[in-house]
Amino acid sequence: MSKELIFRALRADEVELRVKQIYQKNGKPTGLSLLCYKNARCDQNILDETVGPLNWQRHHLRDNANCIIAIWDDEKKQWVEKEDTGTESNTEAEKGLASDSFKRAGFNWGIGRELYTSPKIFISADNCSIKETGKTDRNGSPIFACYDNFTVGEMTVSESKVITRLTVLLKGREVFAFGDKPGENPLICNDCGQPIKGVKKRDGTIWYPADIVQYSKAAFQRQLCVACLKKAQKQEPPKEDSVTF
Ligand SMILES: [Zn+2]
Repeated sequence: MSKELIFRALRADEVELRVKQIYQKNGKPTGLSLLCYKNARCDQNILDETVGPLNWQRHHLRDNANCIIAIWDDEKKQWVEKEDTGTESNTEAEKGLASDSFKRAGFNWGIGRELYTSPKIFISADNCSIKETGKTDRNGSPIFACYDNFTVGEMTVSESKVITRLTVLLKGREVFAFGDKPGENPLICNDCGQPIKGVKKRDGTIWYPADIVQYSKAAFQRQLCVACLKKAQKQEPPKEDSVTF
Protein backbone atom coordinates (compact mmCIF):
# COMPACT_ATOMS: atom_id res chain seq x y z
CA MET A 1 0.00 0.00 0.00
CA SER A 2 3.04 2.25 -0.14
CA LYS A 3 1.82 2.47 -3.71
CA GLU A 4 -1.45 4.33 -3.79
CA LEU A 5 -4.43 2.11 -3.13
CA ILE A 6 -7.03 2.62 -5.85
CA PHE A 7 -10.60 1.40 -5.53
CA ARG A 8 -12.69 0.85 -8.62
CA ALA A 9 -15.58 3.17 -9.39
CA LEU A 10 -19.06 2.11 -8.34
CA ARG A 11 -21.27 0.26 -10.81
CA ALA A 12 -24.71 1.62 -11.70
CA ASP A 13 -26.39 -1.10 -9.59
CA GLU A 14 -24.41 -0.03 -6.50
CA VAL A 15 -25.85 3.48 -6.61
CA GLU A 16 -29.18 4.35 -5.03
CA LEU A 17 -31.26 7.43 -5.66
CA ARG A 18 -33.29 9.34 -3.12
CA VAL A 19 -35.49 12.39 -3.50
CA LYS A 20 -33.64 15.47 -2.32
CA GLN A 21 -36.20 18.17 -2.97
CA ILE A 22 -39.61 18.57 -4.57
CA TYR A 23 -40.15 21.84 -6.39
CA GLN A 24 -43.47 23.63 -6.75
CA LYS A 25 -44.92 26.70 -8.37
CA ASN A 26 -48.27 28.19 -7.36
CA GLY A 27 -49.02 25.16 -5.21
CA LYS A 28 -48.46 22.66 -8.05
CA PRO A 29 -45.45 20.31 -8.14
CA THR A 30 -43.08 21.03 -11.06
CA GLY A 31 -40.54 18.29 -10.47
CA LEU A 32 -37.94 16.97 -8.10
CA SER A 33 -34.23 16.55 -7.66
CA LEU A 34 -32.49 13.30 -6.78
CA LEU A 35 -29.29 12.53 -4.90
CA CYS A 36 -26.97 9.58 -5.48
CA TYR A 37 -25.97 7.35 -2.58
CA LYS A 38 -23.91 4.19 -2.38
CA ASN A 39 -25.87 1.20 -1.14
CA ALA A 40 -25.11 -0.59 2.10
CA ARG A 41 -23.13 -3.55 0.81
CA CYS A 42 -21.03 -1.65 -1.67
CA ASP A 43 -18.13 -0.58 0.59
CA GLN A 44 -17.88 -4.09 1.99
CA ASN A 45 -17.83 -5.70 -1.47
CA ILE A 46 -15.29 -3.28 -2.89
CA LEU A 47 -13.00 -3.68 0.13
CA ASP A 48 -13.22 -7.49 -0.17
CA GLU A 49 -12.52 -7.33 -3.89
CA THR A 50 -9.65 -4.88 -3.72
CA VAL A 51 -7.66 -5.75 -0.60
CA GLY A 52 -9.08 -9.20 0.24
CA PRO A 53 -11.55 -10.03 3.03
CA LEU A 54 -8.80 -10.74 5.58
CA ASN A 55 -6.92 -7.52 4.97
CA TRP A 56 -9.42 -5.00 6.20
CA GLN A 57 -11.51 -4.49 9.31
CA ARG A 58 -14.02 -2.07 10.70
CA HIS A 59 -14.39 -0.84 14.26
CA HIS A 60 -17.07 1.34 15.70
CA LEU A 61 -16.61 3.87 18.45
CA ARG A 62 -18.96 6.18 20.36
CA ASP A 63 -22.01 3.89 19.97
CA ASN A 64 -21.51 3.51 16.23
CA ALA A 65 -21.25 7.26 15.59
CA ASN A 66 -17.67 6.80 14.43
CA CYS A 67 -16.27 4.14 12.19
CA ILE A 68 -12.68 3.22 11.50
CA ILE A 69 -11.79 1.20 8.44
CA ALA A 70 -8.34 -0.31 8.83
CA ILE A 71 -6.48 -1.81 5.87
CA TRP A 72 -3.41 -4.02 6.20
CA ASP A 73 -0.27 -2.61 4.58
CA ASP A 74 1.80 -5.67 3.78
CA GLU A 75 4.93 -3.68 2.98
CA LYS A 76 5.01 -1.77 6.24
CA LYS A 77 3.44 -4.69 8.17
CA GLN A 78 0.94 -2.44 9.85
CA TRP A 79 -2.73 -1.42 9.76
CA VAL A 80 -3.57 1.93 8.19
CA GLU A 81 -6.77 3.50 9.52
CA LYS A 82 -9.25 6.06 8.28
CA GLU A 83 -12.10 7.24 10.46
CA ASP A 84 -15.28 9.24 10.06
CA THR A 85 -18.48 10.20 11.84
CA GLY A 86 -21.99 9.27 10.76
CA THR A 87 -25.25 11.09 11.25
CA GLU A 88 -28.34 9.47 12.63
CA SER A 89 -31.14 8.78 10.17
CA ASN A 90 -34.59 8.98 11.74
CA THR A 91 -35.68 5.59 10.54
CA GLU A 92 -33.50 2.74 11.74
CA ALA A 93 -31.36 4.72 14.15
CA GLU A 94 -28.80 2.13 15.36
CA LYS A 95 -28.22 0.40 12.07
CA GLY A 96 -28.46 3.74 10.26
CA LEU A 97 -25.69 5.30 12.31
CA ALA A 98 -23.35 2.33 11.99
CA SER A 99 -23.76 2.02 8.23
CA ASP A 100 -23.58 5.78 7.73
CA SER A 101 -20.28 6.12 9.60
CA PHE A 102 -18.98 3.03 7.75
CA LYS A 103 -19.88 4.55 4.38
CA ARG A 104 -18.26 7.83 5.33
CA ALA A 105 -15.06 6.12 6.38
CA GLY A 106 -15.26 4.38 2.98
CA PHE A 107 -15.45 7.76 1.24
CA ASN A 108 -12.25 8.71 3.08
CA TRP A 109 -10.58 5.72 1.46
CA GLY A 110 -11.94 6.95 -1.89
CA ILE A 111 -14.78 4.41 -2.28
CA GLY A 112 -17.62 6.08 -4.18
CA ARG A 113 -15.93 9.47 -4.20
CA GLU A 114 -17.16 9.96 -7.78
CA LEU A 115 -20.68 10.42 -6.39
CA TYR A 116 -19.63 13.91 -5.33
CA THR A 117 -19.28 14.77 -9.04
CA SER A 118 -22.85 13.75 -9.87
CA PRO A 119 -24.71 16.15 -12.18
CA LYS A 120 -27.83 17.82 -10.87
CA ILE A 121 -30.61 15.29 -11.43
CA PHE A 122 -33.94 16.95 -12.13
CA ILE A 123 -37.05 14.93 -12.99
CA SER A 124 -40.03 16.92 -14.21
CA ALA A 125 -43.42 16.30 -12.59
CA ASP A 126 -44.86 14.64 -15.71
CA ASN A 127 -42.10 12.00 -15.62
CA CYS A 128 -42.83 10.79 -12.07
CA SER A 129 -45.72 10.72 -9.65
CA ILE A 130 -45.64 13.42 -7.02
CA LYS A 131 -48.43 13.13 -4.48
CA GLU A 132 -49.99 15.57 -2.07
CA THR A 133 -49.52 14.57 1.56
CA GLY A 134 -52.42 16.72 2.75
CA LYS A 135 -49.99 18.61 5.00
CA THR A 136 -48.70 22.14 4.62
CA ASP A 137 -45.43 23.75 5.68
CA ARG A 138 -45.23 26.82 7.91
CA ASN A 139 -45.68 29.10 4.88
CA GLY A 140 -48.93 27.33 4.05
CA SER A 141 -47.53 25.66 0.92
CA PRO A 142 -48.61 22.07 0.36
CA ILE A 143 -46.08 19.34 1.17
CA PHE A 144 -45.59 16.83 -1.60
CA ALA A 145 -44.01 13.38 -1.59
CA CYS A 146 -42.79 10.98 -4.23
CA TYR A 147 -42.50 7.22 -3.58
CA ASP A 148 -41.30 6.26 -7.05
CA ASN A 149 -38.47 3.77 -7.24
CA PHE A 150 -35.84 5.51 -9.35
CA THR A 151 -32.78 3.50 -10.38
CA VAL A 152 -29.53 4.32 -12.11
CA GLY A 153 -29.52 2.90 -15.64
CA GLU A 154 -26.03 3.71 -16.89
CA MET A 155 -23.11 5.30 -15.12
CA THR A 156 -19.71 6.00 -16.64
CA VAL A 157 -16.85 7.29 -14.52
CA SER A 158 -13.61 8.74 -15.91
CA GLU A 159 -10.18 7.69 -14.70
CA SER A 160 -10.03 10.79 -12.53
CA LYS A 161 -13.27 9.58 -10.87
CA VAL A 162 -15.65 12.07 -12.44
CA ILE A 163 -19.09 10.94 -13.58
CA THR A 164 -19.29 11.53 -17.34
CA ARG A 165 -22.56 9.73 -18.05
CA LEU A 166 -25.56 9.00 -15.87
CA THR A 167 -29.08 7.90 -16.71
CA VAL A 168 -32.06 7.42 -14.41
CA LEU A 169 -34.82 4.90 -15.02
CA LEU A 170 -38.33 4.67 -13.66
CA LYS A 171 -40.21 1.43 -14.38
CA GLY A 172 -37.66 0.73 -17.10
CA ARG A 173 -38.17 4.06 -18.83
CA GLU A 174 -35.35 6.62 -19.06
CA VAL A 175 -36.42 9.79 -17.25
CA PHE A 176 -33.05 11.53 -17.04
CA ALA A 177 -29.85 11.39 -19.08
CA PHE A 178 -26.61 13.24 -18.58
CA GLY A 179 -23.56 13.14 -20.85
CA ASP A 180 -23.09 11.61 -24.27
CA LYS A 181 -23.69 7.93 -24.84
CA PRO A 182 -20.32 6.23 -25.37
CA GLY A 183 -19.56 6.34 -29.07
CA GLU A 184 -22.47 8.66 -29.78
CA ASN A 185 -22.02 11.84 -31.77
CA PRO A 186 -21.96 15.08 -29.81
CA LEU A 187 -25.24 16.95 -29.46
CA ILE A 188 -25.76 19.30 -32.40
CA CYS A 189 -27.47 22.68 -32.27
CA ASN A 190 -30.67 22.73 -34.36
CA ASP A 191 -30.13 26.36 -35.39
CA CYS A 192 -26.45 26.60 -36.34
CA GLY A 193 -25.43 22.96 -36.72
CA GLN A 194 -22.45 23.29 -34.36
CA PRO A 195 -21.84 20.87 -31.47
CA ILE A 196 -23.36 21.97 -28.17
CA LYS A 197 -20.63 22.56 -25.60
CA GLY A 198 -20.88 23.04 -21.85
CA VAL A 199 -20.27 26.45 -20.30
CA LYS A 200 -19.27 27.75 -16.91
CA LYS A 201 -22.12 29.59 -15.24
CA ARG A 202 -21.75 32.75 -13.15
CA ASP A 203 -21.80 30.76 -9.94
CA GLY A 204 -18.81 28.74 -11.19
CA THR A 205 -20.73 25.51 -11.79
CA ILE A 206 -20.72 23.87 -15.20
CA TRP A 207 -23.79 23.78 -17.37
CA TYR A 208 -23.43 20.50 -19.24
CA PRO A 209 -24.55 19.90 -22.86
CA ALA A 210 -27.28 17.47 -21.77
CA ASP A 211 -28.70 20.09 -19.38
CA ILE A 212 -28.48 22.83 -22.02
CA VAL A 213 -30.44 20.62 -24.40
CA GLN A 214 -33.03 19.82 -21.73
CA TYR A 215 -33.47 23.49 -20.97
CA SER A 216 -33.58 24.72 -24.57
CA LYS A 217 -36.08 22.01 -25.53
CA ALA A 218 -38.37 23.05 -22.67
CA ALA A 219 -37.99 26.77 -23.38
CA PHE A 220 -37.75 26.85 -27.19
CA GLN A 221 -38.84 23.36 -28.33
CA ARG A 222 -35.47 22.58 -29.97
CA GLN A 223 -31.90 21.83 -28.91
CA LEU A 224 -29.64 24.86 -29.05
CA CYS A 225 -26.03 25.73 -28.36
CA VAL A 226 -25.43 28.48 -25.82
CA ALA A 227 -24.86 31.17 -28.49
CA CYS A 228 -28.15 30.36 -30.25
CA LEU A 229 -29.87 30.05 -26.90
CA LYS A 230 -28.84 33.60 -26.05
CA LYS A 231 -30.17 34.78 -29.42
CA ALA A 232 -33.43 32.92 -28.90
CA GLN A 233 -33.83 34.39 -25.42
CA LYS A 234 -33.64 37.87 -26.91
CA GLN A 235 -36.05 37.12 -29.74
CA GLU A 236 -38.54 34.66 -28.25
CA PRO A 237 -39.91 34.76 -24.73
CA PRO A 238 -38.86 31.47 -23.07
CA LYS A 239 -41.57 29.27 -21.61
CA GLU A 240 -39.57 28.46 -18.50
CA ASP A 241 -37.89 30.79 -16.06
CA SER A 242 -34.74 32.10 -17.63
CA VAL A 243 -31.46 30.86 -16.27
CA THR A 244 -28.47 33.15 -15.99
CA PHE A 245 -25.23 32.07 -17.57
ZN1 LIG B 1 -26.21 27.13 -32.32
